[in-house]
Amino acid sequence: MKKLLRILLCFILVLSLLGCGSDDKNAKKTTKASVSASKKTTTSTTSSSSNESTKGKGKVVVLATGGTIAGVGEKGKTAGYKPGSLSADDLLSAVPELKNVADIEAVQVCNVNSDDITAETWLTVAKKINEMSARDDVKGFVVTHGTDTMEETAYFLNLVVKTDKPVVLTGSMRPSTSISADGPMNLYESVCVAASDKAVGQGVLTVFSDKIFSARSVVKTSTYKVTAISAGEMGAIGIVRDGAVFLYESPAKKHTSQSEFDISKLTNLPKVSIVYFSVDADPEILKYAAKNSEGIVIAGAGAGEFSEKWVNVINDLKIPVVISSRIDDGVITKDNLLCKNTVAADNLSPQKASILLRLALTIKADTAKLEQLFAEY
Ligand code: ASP
Repeated sequence: MKKLLRILLCFILVLSLLGCGSDDKNAKKTTKASVSASKKTTTSTTSSSSNESTKGKGKVVVLATGGTIAGVGEKGKTAGYKPGSLSADDLLSAVPELKNVADIEAVQVCNVNSDDITAETWLTVAKKINEMSARDDVKGFVVTHGTDTMEETAYFLNLVVKTDKPVVLTGSMRPSTSISADGPMNLYESVCVAASDKAVGQGVLTVFSDKIFSARSVVKTSTYKVTAISAGEMGAIGIVRDGAVFLYESPAKKHTSQSEFDISKLTNLPKVSIVYFSVDADPEILKYAAKNSEGIVIAGAGAGEFSEKWVNVINDLKIPVVISSRIDDGVITKDNLLCKNTVAADNLSPQKASILLRLALTIKADTAKLEQLFAEY
């Protein structure tokens, strides 16, 4: 009996050494944080924290592109401000708590309203991430971005960055000068996700209002709510609470290091036009788009439908035509197609379908290859 008790005590002792010991070590770990701008290093402080995200502390690179998160306007107001006014350094110094999470290196890519983001900006950001992700000291990336086109940049990066390290996009709906600006919390939570081992290999993510979204599903759903960044019927894949990352789902489609797209030699992307169908929409617009683009995405009604007049024009088009829907939720399959020479966009929005088509054109994809790409990505 005594022998049995002794064995039991030893077992409990071993268990406590294995479990609590490692947490304790991490909680007591004293860390050094530095915030640097593209050229100058500004601060270096010592801190300690028992926060989950500090356990694997490394460097998070913040690539700033502008948007409302860097917006400045009349004090207290939420509209009528100038996006892309604050520098990456300004954004970081508004969140001193970041020093408890990761060392930060800041890169100012540009400082624009996200409606002025171009394919060249995408390529610059993607190449920067591909180059910096080779560094051992870099744990992850945060891209600060306007919310208008955040979903497009996220999906583009999801298709072309060649790393399993976390890449997280964030921004804000209220400018920095408004009452209760949402930028600082979004930035903080994004750095927590970018520094978390849980986000490794999950593809490009967007963190907004405490939620984590996959790049393929993320979509802007409101012109004013602080919860504007959402994922429609696909929902969030995780949440962030006080810096702790909770991940519940993983993206099922191909992304990042599994992707076949190579942008290393590209300086721009083929031009694709999105043509929106509505009652009486002039089919001449299709002819104009076909003459001036290498591919077309149709934002059709319902399950990618349009009028007989449009069917007649599309049947004669000689460039790739992808059929998407102007409706946010739902899927388009081959059976839904009204024209044989078109490809279904699956459940990609017109703006995301156009990104995949632009990349598909860089590898000269034929119809069969396009069908494969739209099924896999
Ligand atoms: N127009 C802004 C932008 O996309 C909106 C925002 O950031 O919320 O840059």
